[in-house]
This record gives sequence, structure tokens and C-alpha cells, in this order.
Amino acid sequence: MSDSNAPSAKLDFIREIIAEDLATGKHSTVITRFPPEPNGYLHIGHAKSICLNFGIAGEHQEVGAKCHLRFDDTNPEKEETEYVDSIKADVKWLGFDWGADLYFASNYFDFFYDCAVHLIREGKAYVEQQSAEEMRANRGNLTTPGTPSPFRDRPVDENLDLFARMKAGEFKEGECVLRAKIDLASPNMNLRDPVIYRIMHAHHHNTGDAWCIYPLYDYAHPLEDALEHITHSLCTLEFENHRPLYDWVINHCPVPSKPRQIEFARLSLTYTVMSKRKLLQLVQEGLVGGWNDPRLPTISGLRRRGYPAEAIRHFCKRIGITKFSGTTDVALLEFDVRDFLNTSAPRRMAVLDPVKVVLENWSTEPLAAAEVANHPQQPEAGNREVPMSGEIWIERDDFMEVPEKKFYRLGPDRHVRLKGGHIIRCSGFEKDAAGNVTLIRAEILPGTVGVDSPAGIECRAAIHWVDAASGLDAEVRIYDRLFSVEDPDAAEGGFLSVLNPNSLKTLTAKVEPSLAAVAQGFSCQFERVGYFVADAIDHQPGAKPVFNRTVALKDSWVKKGGR
Ligand code: ATP
Ligand code: MG
Repeated sequence: MSDSNAPSAKLDFIREIIAEDLATGKHSTVITRFPPEPNGYLHIGHAKSICLNFGIAGEHQEVGAKCHLRFDDTNPEKEETEYVDSIKADVKWLGFDWGADLYFASNYFDFFYDCAVHLIREGKAYVEQQSAEEMRANRGNLTTPGTPSPFRDRPVDENLDLFARMKAGEFKEGECVLRAKIDLASPNMNLRDPVIYRIMHAHHHNTGDAWCIYPLYDYAHPLEDALEHITHSLCTLEFENHRPLYDWVINHCPVPSKPRQIEFARLSLTYTVMSKRKLLQLVQEGLVGGWNDPRLPTISGLRRRGYPAEAIRHFCKRIGITKFSGTTDVALLEFDVRDFLNTSAPRRMAVLDPVKVVLENWSTEPLAAAEVANHPQQPEAGNREVPMSGEIWIERDDFMEVPEKKFYRLGPDRHVRLKGGHIIRCSGFEKDAAGNVTLIRAEILPGTVGVDSPAGIECRAAIHWVDAASGLDAEVRIYDRLFSVEDPDAAEGGFLSVLNPNSLKTLTAKVEPSLAAVAQGFSCQFERVGYFVADAIDHQPGAKPVFNRTVALKDSWVKKGGR
């Protein structure tokens, strides 16, 4: 797997623009920014933006390029410090570092205010006292220009006075707003005298009660970028129509630099909702276990699920940066996770649906403990001593009373190899009244450890197993997709109507004893089953181990005929 910071052979259109700006001397360095609003946890869509912005900075170290982490915290109502902390932790975990460049847009409130006063003085902004409904009605539509507000041509002094009184708290919310005076006939509705300041009598996490007027995103964002000398301000496509307003603000305010906005397609994934509002609803209504629920596409959820940061970075690089929106198959992300874990994860054994096998010729004389080494590239990742006794657990579906064609595992009178150990032969089995196999009897074939094809024995498969005497019970959480349809956002009954009722199954599995002592976050392959991680919260030393399934070995969804 290639490193996600290495420049790719072919540059995407944004990297091309940047390379050209450096080559022509338009810019002597590159400064990008990742500007989350601290009103929720970051998700995999944000990871795309983080990898792009921090990635570009990393690729231009020769000119001292940087990427700022800027909290876009201009809206007092929805923001919390819990989100600020989680966002920092997630960016770091993804492998990026903002160094000294950590900023809060709320520290620029004075600058935003001064720019607004400047616009008023220049005759480019006015205090509007129509109601929101009147403004909407007078905005016109695509074929009809807007109707000028009766307040549009107020004298500058009156505007200055009213704006100062808005700031001083003399008005109630909604009584007046500040509008930019641009073009009521513009085909771009964003230019029809957009509101740039509104009154909100709300407490702000950083500035407290110092302000009761707050700037709107389209006005504040370009000013934040300009103040920080951002060269390339990268955002998602839905802001394309806002770019003329972005440029208008830059061109009419006293700013220290002229950033350029460039839009790219946002990431959407199948079987996933990405809107922070919807994620918040899932969390608040208790439909998932919190922002870090392993079924959520949040960075903290994916981390707890066992997704390696490197796999996420690789995925973001692979999907690329384009101007076309589309939906990416979530299986692609799962593929990268599997691919990365295949090389990095040590091998262990666990039996998820156990049935007991009694080894009838097991002698009390200690047999050599099984040596299990089953990592294709790195034997040391699987190499360990695994205790064994006269009783073991195997998977229920590794035994068939009447084996089907091509079933090479255990059945009456059949042979199978115990991974890393002996070949065994099934000598009998017991069933309960319902017809379920309750016990299998088998005998060990002495001298078959490490012997590939002993003469006269047909053995074509190796199965995993756990020693019954020393094995442990573990809680194993099997996660599946949170939604049962590809596009939950489009579901007729709303996204909550298509929640997958089987997105979490909790089992008690049998696991090899070495798994009792592993640390939280320990990631391994349960051989032949999938990749699992010791839960970052509930897995506690000395207690029953708790493992989350990161991803199945193969895409079981496809196998089940899900797609
Ligand atoms: P939401 O619409 O869910 O509230 P947002 O875009 O408002 O998300 P922000 O915190 O403002 O969330 O996003 C920070 C940055 O991440 C922005 O630059 C935004 O463009 C980018 N971003 C958000 N979602 C995606 C996505 N799905 N794909 C790529 N970039 C994204
Ligand atoms: Mg946003």
C-alpha cells in the first residue's frame, strides 16, 4: 500500500491549479485550511477534506506550505467544546498536525464587524427592517428580479447608527438585519442583497455574551480565509453558487490577502447517512450507542470499529478529487480496511458458533502444544503456542452430518486438519431432540502435525479451533450496515424507516487464552472469520474480553445476495 502523503502520478485538478500557481509565482507558498463547524463529530466525508487540505500542505513542504485547523464557530447556538475536543483528536488520529496553526473564527468578530462598518460607509450594506417573510416575498425568483426594500437607500449615517444599536442590543431577534447591497436582478439569488449579519441573543462558547449580532457563513468565511492568508480555500460543490458572493466580500472589504475558493465533490457513501443533523438525531434518540458507535461513519466510530487511519487515508486518496458528485460504494472502503489489516493484523483463533469436539484418544501425556503460524506474509504475526486438551471447540458449520459436494471439512468418518495442529477423524456425533448436533467425537491422528499429506489420508481443509479447557468466553459484537438500503436519504419514510434491525448482533464466542491480556484497540484476524478489535471502552483487563468485528473476511453481503 502506498503512503497517502506521496504525490500521486497524476495530479487532480486542485493540485494542478496549486502547482501552476507556484510555478508562475502567483503564490510563493500554499496555505490551506480545514474549517469544521464544532456542531458535531467528524465523519468520513470530513476525512476526505482533511486528507485533501493537510495532504496538499504536506506535499509542498519545500515552500513551507501549511494547513490551518480553523473552528468555524460563528454560530453561537449549536456549538460545544466537546465537539472542539473530539475534532482535534480525530484530525490527529488521522495522522495530521496543524502545528501552531489552530484558529477560532470567533476570535475575528471585531474584524467582521469592522468590515461591515466599512461596507456601510462605502454604501455597500444597509440595515433592513422588513420581516423575514417580506424579504423572501421581495426577493423575486429566477425570472423576476427582486423588489428593492424601502430601507435599501437609507443614508449611510442612519445605517451606521442602526448597526451600532443592533450591536448594542437595542433590538430583538429578527427586528433587523444587515444586508449587503449587491444586485437585486442577479440571476444568482445569492447576490440579491444577502443578509450578512443577524441578531441572536445567545451565549457563545468563546465570546460569552460580548456579542448579540453574528455574521452569516457566506460573509464570514471569505474574511476568515483572507485574514489567515489562505491561498486556496477548498470547499464542496454546493458552494459553487456562493463563489460570486465569496469574491464580492473579498473585493469590497479591507482584507490583507485574496484567497481563491475552489469546489470539489463531497463524499457520499452507499448505506450511509453523512449529514451531521441526521447523525445527531441517531445519537440523541438513542438509536446508536453514541457518536463513537462503531456503526456510524464518524471518525470516532470507525476508529472504535477498528478501521486503521492508514486505510481511511488510502481510501480518500483512491477515490480522488473531482468536480462530479456521485456516491461511492461503501464496499470500497471496506476493501481498503481488509487490505490493510491483511498485512498488519496478527492471527488468532476464535469460534463464534461453538460445538464441542471430544478427542477420544487424547492422552494425558502432554502432546506437543500446537504451533500455529498462519500469516501469509509474516509468520511471526501468527506464530505462538496454543494450548490444547482432550476437548476443543469448532464452528458448528465446519461439521456436516451429510456433507454436500465440495464440503471438505468435518463429517462422519472424514478427516480435517486443526489449524497448526493434528489431523483429526470424526468417529461419531450426538444430536438433541431438535436435531442439532450437540457433540462431535473424533480421534487425533498421531504424527500428522506439520505433515502436509500423510499417506492414505484424504484431508483437504484446515479449520480453526479453541481449546475447551483453557479457552475463554468473549463478548463478540458483529456489526453490519446501519441501513438496509443503498440510499437511506432517499427512503420514502425517511432515513429512520430503513434502519437495519440486524446492524448489531452480540454473541458469546470461545477465544484462545492469549486474548485475555490484550490491550484496548488490539486488532487481529480471527482466522477464517474476519478482523476484530478489542473494544476501546468495554474491553477491560481481567474481565471477559470484548471484541468488535471490524470487517468480515469476505464481503458477506454480496454472498447473501444483498447486492
Ligand atoms: P453537514 O452538512 O453535515 O453539517 P458541513 O459541511 O456543514 O456538514 P463542516 O463542519 O462545515 O460540516 O465541514 C467542514 C469541512 O468539511 C468543510 O470544508 C466541508 O466542505 C467539508 N466536508 C463536509 N462534509 C463533507 C463530505 N461529505 N465530503 C467532503 N468534504 C466534506
Ligand atoms: Mg458547514
